[in-house]
Amino acid sequence: MTGYKMTPGLAKLLTKKLLDECWHKYTTTDKYTCIICKKMFVANRTFTTPDDAHAVMLALKKKGIYGQFYMWAKIKFTSEDRHVYFDEWVWDLWFHSNDERFCALAGRFMEGRK
Ligand SMILES: [Zn+2]
Repeated sequence: MTGYKMTPGLAKLLTKKLLDECWHKYTTTDKYTCIICKKMFVANRTFTTPDDAHAVMLALKKKGIYGQFYMWAKIKFTSEDRHVYFDEWVWDLWFHSNDERFCALAGRFMEGRK
């Protein structure tokens, strides 16, 4: 399946627009202190881990757009891979069974909400 991979662009978008967190930036002279939030030794989220996927899900729910995202993802998926038919419960399982794919879908959903 293509299009369900995280990219730096999607990661930055999810961090800033959905999680309302800092997309940390470093300089070559100070590789340990973020020049924006001044925190030290913090890495940007990769959105490939269970922790990040959970944060994305909570943020979608907090913003009240989880339902919209779910419907959007379902339509998007079935229109891109329409030869596959999923029952509701299979879809739910598929939807949450891959952290990176879940986050990438959320990123693509947020891209459309500019
Ligand atoms: Zn920062």
